[in-house]
Amino acid sequence: IPSSARPHVLLLCSPCMGHLIPFAELARQLVADHGLSATLLFAAATDLPSEEYAALAASVPNSIDFVVLPAPPADVLPSFDSMRERVMHAVSWSIPRVWDVARSLAASTAPLAALVVDMVGVPARDVAKELGVPCYMFFTSPWMLLSLFLHLPELDAKLTKEYRDATEPIRLPGCVPIHVHELPGSMLADRSSSTYVGFLSMAKEAARVDGILVNTFCDLEPAVGEGMDCMKLPVHAVGPLVWARPIGVQEDHSRTVRWLDHRPRGSVVYVSFGSGGTLTWQQTTELALALEMTQHPFVWAIKRPDNDTVSGAFFGTQQGEDDDPFGFLPRGFIERTKGVGLLLQSWAPQTAILSHASVGCFMTHCGWNSTLESILNGVPMVAWPLYAEQKMNAAMLEVQAKVAVRVSIGPGGFASKEEIASVIRHVMDEEEGARMRKFVGEVRDRAAHAVSKDGSSAHALAQVTNVWRSFASEK
Ligand code: UDP
Repeated sequence: IPSSARPHVLLLCSPCMGHLIPFAELARQLVADHGLSATLLFAAATDLPSEEYAALAASVPNSIDFVVLPAPPADVLPSFDSMRERVMHAVSWSIPRVWDVARSLAASTAPLAALVVDMVGVPARDVAKELGVPCYMFFTSPWMLLSLFLHLPELDAKLTKEYRDATEPIRLPGCVPIHVHELPGSMLADRSSSTYVGFLSMAKEAARVDGILVNTFCDLEPAVGEGMDCMKLPVHAVGPLVWARPIGVQEDHSRTVRWLDHRPRGSVVYVSFGSGGTLTWQQTTELALALEMTQHPFVWAIKRPDNDTVSGAFFGTQQGEDDDPFGFLPRGFIERTKGVGLLLQSWAPQTAILSHASVGCFMTHCGWNSTLESILNGVPMVAWPLYAEQKMNAAMLEVQAKVAVRVSIGPGGFASKEEIASVIRHVMDEEEGARMRKFVGEVRDRAAHAVSKDGSSAHALAQVTNVWRSFASEK
């Protein structure tokens, strides 16, 4: 079918790199494998999107219409307490433009089949309603968080005190129990705070879509969709959807791969806390000393420390004007680790690193994309969750999936160099490491099968696109 006549799916993504990456892959698959055409709208938060956004946009194939919607004017920006509020503001600002694009698509030859939004974009569902097509949410985190999210109104109604005072973990159907210290930060705030109230209202909104796609697969989270009967909300596991094309500067990419080419198989520790994660100054020093202690070669996608928040890089506090960009590292560290460590200051070519045979383990903040990328490359993880739902992810990965070992964080939220080094050694150990790698390899094979032609995720996506197509053909 010529692309101009194919049923059209409109996707709206909020300004988070961790959402945009799987959205781009979903759009790519809809076009390449499901006979649809796709417009991916990106609600920018600032007029000057980061290098990574530009690089991702450049790697999106021409078959997808990728449109950056104008950011809210900087001079009328309210002050935000959280990243979530900033992102929500950008999405609300973009909705009139979504209307414009949707109306012009509806007037074109290609019938509109569906609107797909992320968890922040649900307020745009009125657009779908008016145009008579379904609004689906593409949830870019695990089922376990989605389940918590969908159960939140019910949990909230039953609760008489604060979540943080609970003595019992939260038990969701088929998921590992969630202990208080593993809950997302928004649930640990006072229930009367705007942070929690906003989180709860987002959870209530989530249940108002026509269906949900989750970036997970049944073998990893067998409970997907469990406990949803009363909501009559179809939930489909369609993952793992990861963006396999390199994002970023080709030169950095080649330099990193060349460096890895010269290291023994399975010997390298890759350290990254995602696009936003930051450690304190003291913790950065401790991690540096731990890496030095283990004597394993390492690639560290390093960010400037931030003593105030664990997601400092999201807030743009990273652009230090220092003469020495690594001045925060322990004295002599760079000289002592010459030839052993590769420090990457800008965007790391993560998928290329994880797919390299030299990499033996991934120290990660357990962001969901990083987790899926690690699994798809059969790389065991050292889990060091920082914010959002990452502590829940880490618990699931260690306790249920057995593909990660958590760093134990001591009093004051601090991990000692001895603890960090001991977890790295455990995962890199000849016997224990080999056992873990074999196990992760099995999970990788099941993940690859899920998205292969006969797999559960490919099947689920085909089913959903059939439903969408039927809406388009009714027009
Ligand atoms: N990423 C990357 N290079 C970096 C940092 C992140 O390629 O230096 C990619 C990573 O491969 C993943 C995404 O950005 O696809 C980060 O998403 P994740 O959910 O892991 O964490 P977030 O950044 O949203 O906290």
